[in-house]
Amino acid sequence: MDLIESRSILSPATGFIRRGGFDWTCNPYVGCTYGCRYCYAAYLPQNRRPVADWGRWLTAKRNAVELARRQGHKAAGQGVYMSSVTDPYQPAERSLHLTRGILEELLPHQPRLVVQTRGPLVVRDIDVLSQYRAVRVNMSIPTDSERVRQLFEPKAPPLDRRWAALHELKAAGVPVGVCVTPTLPIEDAAGFARRIAALAPDVLVCQDFHDAGGRFGADTSDAARRLLAETGWSPADYRRFVDRLRETMAVYEGEAGFFPPGEIAARG
Ligand code: SF4
Repeated sequence: MDLIESRSILSPATGFIRRGGFDWTCNPYVGCTYGCRYCYAAYLPQNRRPVADWGRWLTAKRNAVELARRQGHKAAGQGVYMSSVTDPYQPAERSLHLTRGILEELLPHQPRLVVQTRGPLVVRDIDVLSQYRAVRVNMSIPTDSERVRQLFEPKAPPLDRRWAALHELKAAGVPVGVCVTPTLPIEDAAGFARRIAALAPDVLVCQDFHDAGGRFGADTSDAARRLLAETGWSPADYRRFVDRLRETMAVYEGEAGFFPPGEIAARG
């Protein structure tokens, strides 16, 4: 892992994140050791390394917490998306505490914060997160199947650990979102829908994987598209799954699911 001195820890939001109502993105790291096969971040200009190496390297912003202390005022009351090109709770965070330090420094400025992660480590910071007046932790759970999860995101945490984290957050009063994004093949659509309904997340987001090719995010890898084709999962399967979910709860699709906490009523 590399360490760098960064000039800024808050970047002006762009693209679909900006359109969703966020003012800033916050990335404590560059790169991501979860290395999901469909990750659009591998194709963004911030990634100057070969796309094929995505997931095999990580750069930590050594001065991230100090920057948050100096620059946090800029985000007072504004929408902050954490993170757009990395996972703030990947394994390195367990010892580096950059994400936690940033959360502590932003707290006095009370931005409207969304934390987007696959990392159950997020529960470590419930004590800080619960002090935000407008916050949501979005957990990415793109399938109900460990077999599928291991095909597409073999280095990311098992699904049951993500579910456990969601329940712990919710029990602590921290609003949660479930992001079935991108929606990977589902093995038991009815059972998955029941599990989501039982959690009753504050926000539920789905995204048809077939729509990902250049129109949402930057791109997704050919390998991921091949894997998807091998599973036989189709756009019709996705549509049936979303329709089933909509029988019991509101579902935001794709870009419509990107919005800061406190804006549901305006959009729903
Ligand atoms: S966890 Fe997020 S940022 Fe990291 S590889 Fe997976 S999709 Fe990309």
